[in-house]
Amino acid sequence: MRCLVTGGAGFLGSHLCERLLAEGHEVIALDNLFTGSKRNIAHLLGRSEFEFIRHDVVNPILLEVDRIFNLACPASPIHYQYNPVKTVKTSVVGTINMLGMAKRVKARILQASTSEIYGDPKEHPQREEYWGHVNPIGPRSCYDEGKRVAETLVMDYHRQNRVDTRIVRIFNTYGPRMAVGDRRVMSNFIVQALRGEPLTVYGDGTQTRCFCYVDDMIDGILALMNYDGENAWEPVNIGSEDERSMNDIVQALGEVLGRKLAVEYRPLPSDDPLRRRPDCTRARQRLNWRPKVSLHEGLKRTVQYFREVIGSAK
Ligand code: NAD
Ligand code: UDP
Repeated sequence: MRCLVTGGAGFLGSHLCERLLAEGHEVIALDNLFTGSKRNIAHLLGRSEFEFIRHDVVNPILLEVDRIFNLACPASPIHYQYNPVKTVKTSVVGTINMLGMAKRVKARILQASTSEIYGDPKEHPQREEYWGHVNPIGPRSCYDEGKRVAETLVMDYHRQNRVDTRIVRIFNTYGPRMAVGDRRVMSNFIVQALRGEPLTVYGDGTQTRCFCYVDDMIDGILALMNYDGENAWEPVNIGSEDERSMNDIVQALGEVLGRKLAVEYRPLPSDDPLRRRPDCTRARQRLNWRPKVSLHEGLKRTVQYFREVIGSAK
């Protein structure tokens, strides 16, 4: 099949391109290189089944494809807050453009949604039926509400135009090819530790997240795209259910590096969700998906990557 991956030069997109090629598909990676990088896909550029198009999803484009993975959107708070209006446009106009393409060429489309659509959740863990608790006017809203409208658009194209759609709600994911300066907690802590700097813990470090290793996430995304069972258009949570506080992450990273890490406490950013954990029953039942890589193993692999990128021996 010919697959389009928007955001294909980003962290998740580049891993997805790699896996689709390994499965024998043709891949077009489309990216405006806002947060992605050609370095992430440099090893794929020479392959005849792979093409890269520098393009912004906010502008229409005509392509003939069988499958569309719509991942284009900055994911780190500092990146999506850099130009919030653009973030909303990417999620809304960009998703309309990709849905229009899916409708025209009868492609199946998978939308990369996010745990952020649950906001600072009042239900724990978060099941797909939960509607969320999102601030519509805060600094995170451009991302959260943009992604919520993207889900609405996907469902409306599905109901109104019979477009074959999938929605994956991605929970925190980490691994090689996260951008060094994206300041998401995993990349930030690892880079700080490798540079011998104190780890910046926001708030008191008791807020929780569940961290999924990138290979497991790509397995889940592909399983959902390929799922042909009942109610395939319904959103599916994909993520780890291993809930950890930021203080736990400091501890785990210290164990992987074999030394005690210094910590510096900083104020908690506004609207930072206090707790987050997916209920992944749907992914288990429908996709037979469960993550395989432990936090320690994932951290080891990610540390190895960042050691090479920043040239650290620590
Ligand atoms: P990333 O920033 O590494 O990748 C996003 C890619 O999209 C980048 O290559 C960027 O250049 C590209 N992009 C941004 N705006 C664009 C535009 N207007 N036109 C074309 N390309 C554009 O982030 P990521 O972690 O790989 O995230 C990929 C997708 O997964 C995003 O949609 C994100 O919202 C979603 N997601 C990721 C996580 C996570 O923990 N990594 C969690 C939830 C959801
Ligand atoms: N965080 C932190 N130190 C950092 C970066 C992030 O303590 O250097 C915290 C942040 O406040 C949040 C959690 O780590 O509670 C996850 O942040 P990230 O930006 O990685 O993801 P998101 O908030 O989008 O889940």
